[in-house]
Amino acid sequence: MATTAKGPKKRSKSIAIVRRYDCTGCEACIVFCPVDCIDLVSPSDNPAEKYVLIDKETCIGCLLCARYCPWDSIDMIQRQPFEETGELQFL
Ligand code: SF4
Ligand code: SF4
Repeated sequence: MATTAKGPKKRSKSIAIVRRYDCTGCEACIVFCPVDCIDLVSPSDNPAEKYVLIDKETCIGCLLCARYCPWDSIDMIQRQPFEETGELQFL
């Protein structure tokens, strides 16, 4: 578990995941994320394609990206089953 100067870092129960092929790369979610954990990326074999990746360690599960994505491309899931088994339990 990550630690901070104040002790072990508390992790959110939920995290955001992006449905890559629904994402247009518009970057709206990046603007709203309060912890700056969303990055715009392009696959090396197709630089014209844009989508975002979310750093699940940093995500605090605040829902803002999912709420404001104009393309409804972000889902919120339970962190624990996803990390332990890869299972997607949607909120
Ligand atoms: S849920 Fe909140 S913290 Fe997580 S990626 Fe979305 S805006 Fe950022
Ligand atoms: S707001 Fe939605 S469509 Fe736009 S970059 Fe983020 S996930 Fe992709």
